[in-house]
Amino acid sequence: MADALPHAAAGHWDARARALDAADPIAFARERFLVPDGLVYLDGNSLGALTHASAERVARTVTQEWGRGLIGSWNAAGWVDLPARVADRIAGLIGAPEGSVAVADSTSVNLFKVLAAALALRPERRVVVSQRQNFPTDLYMAEGLAQLLAQGHELRLVDEGEDPAGALCERTAVLMLTHVDYRTGAIHDMAALTQAAHAAGALTIWDLAHSAGALELEMDRSGADFAVGCGYKFLNGGPGAPAFLFVAPRHQAEARQPLSGWFGHAAPFSFEPGYRPSDGIRRFQAGTPSVIALSSLDAALDAFEGVTMAQIREKSVALTSFFAEAVEALVGSGLALASPREERARASQVSYRHDAAYALAQALIERGIVGDFRAPDILRFGFAPLYNRFGEALAAARGIAAVLRDGHHLEPRFQVRNAVT
Ligand SMILES: *Cc1c(COP(=O)(O)O)cnc(C)c1O
Repeated sequence: MADALPHAAAGHWDARARALDAADPIAFARERFLVPDGLVYLDGNSLGALTHASAERVARTVTQEWGRGLIGSWNAAGWVDLPARVADRIAGLIGAPEGSVAVADSTSVNLFKVLAAALALRPERRVVVSQRQNFPTDLYMAEGLAQLLAQGHELRLVDEGEDPAGALCERTAVLMLTHVDYRTGAIHDMAALTQAAHAAGALTIWDLAHSAGALELEMDRSGADFAVGCGYKFLNGGPGAPAFLFVAPRHQAEARQPLSGWFGHAAPFSFEPGYRPSDGIRRFQAGTPSVIALSSLDAALDAFEGVTMAQIREKSVALTSFFAEAVEALVGSGLALASPREERARASQVSYRHDAAYALAQALIERGIVGDFRAPDILRFGFAPLYNRFGEALAAARGIAAVLRDGHHLEPRFQVRNAVT
């Protein structure tokens, strides 16, 4: 009889997970993905899972369109319009109007383009305000641009816990923030911070890497000036998928970006010697689009069909809450929650701090539970509402409890770091 209680408790968690999965209105979307059997994949915030649609589309693009159609496919298969078509689909997912999003390059490169455009719109100002804990590539790109411009631009970094709005002043050209903190999942109030930036006469750039495809966004109504985001996280476009950028329509006539390649030219096939930017968002393109990767991203967006972003957000909140609750009950105080406790204050991930976070992540991967580690001490679990299930959240919580209980993560082979964490 001594163990009757734990068994009852285990049954209670299983029953809850089953009930939540059975009541999930978007459970059908899981079939659109190829998630290996038995794998608990909680890293879709770093690399989204493969859709069946992408796998088929890439095969067709390669063998039919490229293999048989060759150069004619630029017109016949619509390659030339593919960036704009994919961009408008992403616009629909982030609450942006048609013609305000471009798909190209990587998030880093797009950040460079929109930051250069924004700084040129505030020529008399020299300060970019951001956060020290921002995703490093954003800070690196800003540093590189400031050096290239050689006009005395400086990056003013606000420390963790400080309000970025407090650093705004009459010298601030741009407030550049990542909407969702990649380590903790904490969400900034985009509308309020944008309003504060505008009140100080500055423009805003929002990095939506961990927002697009996971949160309900209203880029139009938020007042945001510029944004960038990632194609391979919650949008599931595939490793290194093209990224996107957003330029508010009110800035498009004036905004110029410095990577003035022919695909952003008003008439790329006139082969004029001088650069004339295209009207509208297309001037944010630079070179020939990566057609195979774009095809994959385009097909991956099919996974959002028949699902609203409100449903995705509801399921995300329910998944992260259920997981955090299960970890608290089954793991106890061994892990410190790094994400906001308030469920609406966090995006689609739950993070914990632990001194052995790297080894823990590795030991979990060996058990088929894939989360990730972020330096220095963060163990991160991403929940992709289109394919993750409540049963997986429970399996992950149980796996963490088992690893910690058995000290599995202390084994020497988990202490060696791989190049990509
Ligand atoms: C993932 C991520 C990036 C990635 O940038 P790439 O240039 O696509 O490698 C940028 N910013 C943030 C906040 C990210 O989370």
